[in-house]
Amino acid sequence: MPVDLTRSRVLQQRAERYFPGGVNSPARAFRAVGGDPPFVERAEGAYLWDADGNRYIDYFGSWGPMILGHAFPPAVEAIREPAQLSPSFGASTASEADLAELVVRAFPSIDKLRFVSSGTEATMSAIRLARAYTDRKLVAKFEGCYHGHSDGLLVKAGSGVATLGIPGSAGVPEDIAHLTLALPYNDAMAVEAAFDAHRHEIACVIVEPVVGNAGCIPAAAGYLEALREITNREGALLIFDEVMTGFRVALGGAQELYGITPDLTTLGKILGGGLPCAAFGGRADIMDLLAPLGPVYQAGTLSGNPLAMAAGLATLQYLTEHRGEVYPLLESLSESLVSGVGAEAARAGVSITSNRVGAMFTWFFTAGAVTDYDSAAKSDTAAFARFHRAMLESGVWLPCSQFEAAFLSAAHTPADIQQTIEAAGSAFRAIAENR
Ligand SMILES: *Cc1c(COP(=O)(O)O)cnc(C)c1O
Repeated sequence: MPVDLTRSRVLQQRAERYFPGGVNSPARAFRAVGGDPPFVERAEGAYLWDADGNRYIDYFGSWGPMILGHAFPPAVEAIREPAQLSPSFGASTASEADLAELVVRAFPSIDKLRFVSSGTEATMSAIRLARAYTDRKLVAKFEGCYHGHSDGLLVKAGSGVATLGIPGSAGVPEDIAHLTLALPYNDAMAVEAAFDAHRHEIACVIVEPVVGNAGCIPAAAGYLEALREITNREGALLIFDEVMTGFRVALGGAQELYGITPDLTTLGKILGGGLPCAAFGGRADIMDLLAPLGPVYQAGTLSGNPLAMAAGLATLQYLTEHRGEVYPLLESLSESLVSGVGAEAARAGVSITSNRVGAMFTWFFTAGAVTDYDSAAKSDTAAFARFHRAMLESGVWLPCSQFEAAFLSAAHTPADIQQTIEAAGSAFRAIAENR
């Protein structure tokens, strides 16, 4: 039975008057799955409630940050005091180093860091730093990886760019796009070939060490090691964009999980506990090129904002102290959800491929293995759209694109997972019977 979204539709009409497409970020629109999104009123733990009072089990978690569930009480409590002391000073506070200490402890590859307000700023700044450090111009990235919306990084990007099926973005001059080499993911030979073709020209390789923004695509065995080996040999920097994977696939991100030490790391999402906060950091000799010490300019009026620091601190403190319980819990809940939904698909005769790393996963509507953007793009996006709609009508809110990873939080319960598996079962049967 379709859910009643009357109030959401009224709010949507108003939003469309003010915002292109009615949204402030394109991934929030339901273009790729048809229909229009519910407007959210509040959230708690694993649940979202919309403006019409419908409840949903949330599997996108604000696109990653909500690893401990919505309105996590210590984070909500932590922002009360700094809000009263004034939300921003534009001057240094103790809280910045408090949060930095936890970041550096979780990420031994980071000697020094700088806080910014979005993942886009973090990756953009890391690349500027890499170009300055190496005195080289080119950047190698991978098809389907998304590193924010700065000009040079939109080339063959994932996330909304992939969802909307556009090769890059209008408004990016060719002169800038030409400085980005887009290579297939999980193909170390393609990286070797790029360095052969552009000897001493590639400043850095930037990678999502587990792709989330083309749907979830794990790095193949030995791939990240190969990137480390090649960049070391060629004098280029290796940047792990862990805006999504940091504190998600392990406390210390994919670099902890796979034991690779990048030169620079970008973080965001979970780092701010739901407030706007991101960071880039790494080797001190590279980071010390930043102004005011060095010649690389980078700045932010609200960088290190006290509310963001407080929410991040509450989140990372909990994750650090409870890592021994939280990550195994996320692993086992995600395992039972992903395999349970996979079994329902098999029973209904719908071909899907499940990819998962920890509490980050995607059900691709394709029978073949998904190892890069091209294999992800073989998915039946019309079937995904039907699945998404049916799940929403059963009170389960999945990411509204085949090319976005889903997330589970520590607030999800076995009952939530059982309900989700049952909803998926009826959705798959409807797809199989073409109802
Ligand atoms: C979300 C994301 C970004 C961009 O972060 P914003 O805060 O949306 O600018 C960059 N890189 C990765 C891997 C991401 O998942």
